[in-house]
Amino acid sequence: MPHNPVLARNLTGLSITEFLHLFPDSDACLRHILHVKYGDQPACPRCGKSSRWHRVGKTQSFAPSCCFGARIHPLTNTLFAKTGIPLHKWFYAILHFCNTGTGVGAVFISRHLGISHAAAVRMADRIRAHFRRIDSQIRLGGVGERVYIVETTMKNVIDPVVGSRHSMRLLIAGDARDFCILAIPKGDFRSARALLEERVHPGSVLVFRDAATSRKVFSYRNPLFTKTFPREVGPDPYDSAFMELSVTLIRLKLFVISNHVWIMSRNINQYISSFEFVYRRNKTGRITFLDAIGSFPSIDRAR
Ligand SMILES: [Zn+2]
Repeated sequence: MPHNPVLARNLTGLSITEFLHLFPDSDACLRHILHVKYGDQPACPRCGKSSRWHRVGKTQSFAPSCCFGARIHPLTNTLFAKTGIPLHKWFYAILHFCNTGTGVGAVFISRHLGISHAAAVRMADRIRAHFRRIDSQIRLGGVGERVYIVETTMKNVIDPVVGSRHSMRLLIAGDARDFCILAIPKGDFRSARALLEERVHPGSVLVFRDAATSRKVFSYRNPLFTKTFPREVGPDPYDSAFMELSVTLIRLKLFVISNHVWIMSRNINQYISSFEFVYRRNKTGRITFLDAIGSFPSIDRAR
């Protein structure tokens, strides 16, 4: 990340003026991605020397001054891979995803960027997957640390197989620092265990607001899971830790409802990760957009 006064400020949003100053065009966006992925002086893949790089014509690749024919393709495996949409529009769309507390829908993106609805849907999907990938390393708790868990129901979720509207069970887990939201497909709490193992450090104490939730998660005997996570039911369901998680869930529901009358159950994780990405940064006062363009991990192309 180049030094910039914007980075030093304690803001959660980046204004359009600041955005245009940092990224005046697609070329600036491409150079930023090169810089983030390969550092100040990318090494030449052929001779290994750190070289000077120049953009190859109108392509999205760079060539070094040392070896003829060597190339770096900064967009490979990122959310921008094989896109026909200019990078500046992509960055602008990401800015909107980051600056809104209510979420962005494909209709908004398609109107704002003047691209087709189908292209906007793909773009929104990629951006959400990118957010998900950036935060995929977050783990709650630690040995002996308490992780609070609250269960809720999300209405108006459509099952693509059955086609009917129904509701979906969600769990939110949180420690003193962070939170994560887990969707439970088909209300089968056996899958909740795998999700918790993925997101919570082994040895954390799971503190449930409701005894019923605890029973569901720990039903179908699984000695390993029971050994990994000591559990208890919170003595006070109105404990501030539970209340804070409940508020986060209300925000998630508003976030989804404000853009979608109903959602497909297969998409729910994408909406959740988009919400989580923005909300956890707003809470800690980080500039969400700079985090969103601060790393470009490989995203799962199958999604
Ligand atoms: Zn070289």
